[in-house]
Formats: sequence, structure tokens, C-alpha cells
Amino acid sequence: MKTRLKGILCGLGVLLSPTVFAADVAIVVHGGAGTILKKNMSAEQEQHYAEKLEEATRAGYALLKQGEAGEKAVVAAIQILEESPLFNAGNGAVYTYDETHELDASIMHGKNLEAGAVSGVTTIKSPIEAALAVMQHSSHVLLAGKGAEAFAQSQGLQQVDNSYFNTQHRLKALQKAKARMQEQQREDGGQQGSEKMGTVGAVVLDKSGNIVAGTSTGGMTAKRYGRVGDAPIIGAGTYADNESCGVSATGHGEYFIRYNVAADICARVRYQGVSIQRAAETVINEELKQAGGTGGVIAMDKRGNITMPFNTAGMYRASINVEGKFSVGIYKNLMKDTHKQ
Ligand code: ASP
Repeated sequence: MKTRLKGILCGLGVLLSPTVFAADVAIVVHGGAGTILKKNMSAEQEQHYAEKLEEATRAGYALLKQGEAGEKAVVAAIQILEESPLFNAGNGAVYTYDETHELDASIMHGKNLEAGAVSGVTTIKSPIEAALAVMQHSSHVLLAGKGAEAFAQSQGLQQVDNSYFNTQHRLKALQKAKARMQEQQREDGGQQGSEKMGTVGAVVLDKSGNIVAGTSTGGMTAKRYGRVGDAPIIGAGTYADNESCGVSATGHGEYFIRYNVAADICARVRYQGVSIQRAAETVINEELKQAGGTGGVIAMDKRGNITMPFNTAGMYRASINVEGKFSVGIYKNLMKDTHKQ
């Protein structure tokens, strides 16, 4: 009897193993959406972006494969992009109207909907790390400005002078935006072209089946009056729920806040039972597009299905799916879509 039972269990194990027992992991990252046109990019620039995206994706994936928690992979991937001047996050962040940098970031864990975020921070080297500290070591969700910085300091996080985030190309973008604002007598940046690209984000599925999402940004060029975008707003720029999906957004933040974009995508998956592709596509290329909101998202469901829709000319993005398949893209079509590990 005992042997028979063992035999049956063994058989079941073999039958179910690829789907039930395999701890599949996956990761998707983005480096911002906007008017990214091939005619404005050299082959060398394309390569730099693709390489950084690949580095961030593979770093996060390696941690996930080792069985590390999803939040660790999200932070590791985002930190690589924060440290690169190519992206509008950390070093390379856009300038405010007053020629400073005010950074926003958030992270959310899909198991129990825990979340942490910081907004308008000026001296925290890695805003995504600060968001994680808020999630793990504070009873709050969103800390702003000086208070967030004092909290980060109390957690022993690295502080830098605001000039650490300076780059020449972002300064030029600010000068252009300001000249246009003056000419058109506008109060806001009214950003164009590359002035607003480069927010970064990551969504992962870890070995425990948890979805974690994070986003980090310098916001929008020439922003004023303590403007806060969607990136640190849970539900707008970042959302994760193991029951539905994880999302990180990039684009014109005001629209993403008003349309509650990240949470809306997950709500459609959960309540309408539609696929992640369908939900994200509807929100980005129908609802948001009709409203005039530009941008895109990366999203992943609990099975590790990935989608990366955008309604702009391009979006920097890369992923490794549950089968280990790597892909990277800038414009509409993916540049590389391989099984290379
Ligand atoms: N969503 C960011 C913001 O509005 C900017 C971006 O993603 O390009 O602050």
C-alpha cells in the first residue's frame, strides 16, 4: 500500500513539476518613454542604452535566480540605471526650474500590498533605496522633502550634494525649456523631445511568487513649486498585487496620476479577468491616448507574462521572461529578442 502511494505521488510530481514546482522568475525594466526617434540617435548611443538596460536586467535576474527577494532585485536593477547619466533618475536626473534636482521614487510589494515612497528629495544618492527603507522600516508610505531626507539619514543611507546629479545634457535641456517658456509665456515646462525622457523602473516575479514593482525619476524638466509626478504615487506610477499584476510607469505624470494608471491596469486584470497585455494596452493606447497623456508602462502578471506598451515614439525597455528569454528595445520593434543567457 505504502509503495503504491509513493508511486502515485512520484508520478504526480513528474506530471506537475514544470508548472507547479518550478520556481520561475522574470524581470522587466524600463528607462523612460518619449519622443525617442531613430534619426536623432547614433548607433553608438543606441548601443549604450541597450547595454545599460541589459546590465540592469541581468543583475536583477541573477538575484532572482539565486532566490533573493523581489525587492532586492528591483532595487539592484534600478540602482544601475540611477547611477547611469543616460537616464532621468539619480545622476542624470532632469533639472527643476531653479536648476536643482528633486527626485521621486517608490516601491511596492505584491504579497501584502506594502509600499514605500519618497518625493522631492535632493540629497539622497539612491531614491529607490530610500523608498525601500520607507517600506521596510517606517509605518508610513510616502515621505516628502526634508523629512524624507532626515529619515534616510537615520537609516544610514548615503547622502550626496545635489550637484552629484548634475549633467551637461540635462542642463542644456533646461535652458532650452526655459527659453521656450519665456517665449510662449508659459508657467510649466511644456517639455519637448528628449527633455523628459529617462524615468526608470522595474517589475519582477521572485521565486516565492511575489510581484514587486519600483520606479525612480527626476521628474520633468523645469518643474516648479515642488511639483510631484506619478512615480512616487502608489497606484499612479507604481503598483503591485500578487493577485493581479505589477506595473511601473513612465510619461506625463499628471495624466498618470489622474488616470490612476498602474492600479487601473491591475484592477482590469483582477476584476475583468483580461490578460495583462489587453489591460495595459487599453489603458495606455486607448484611455490615456484619447486624453492626451503620453507615456508607457512595463507590467507583469503572477505567471510572469510581460507586456511593455507605450503611446510615444519609443520606450527604453528590456526583459527576461520565465523561460529565460532576453529582449531589449528602444523604438516600436524590439532590437534583440533572444534566448541568450
Ligand atoms: N513620469 C515622470 C513624471 O511625471 C516623468 C517620466 O516618466 O518621463 O515625473
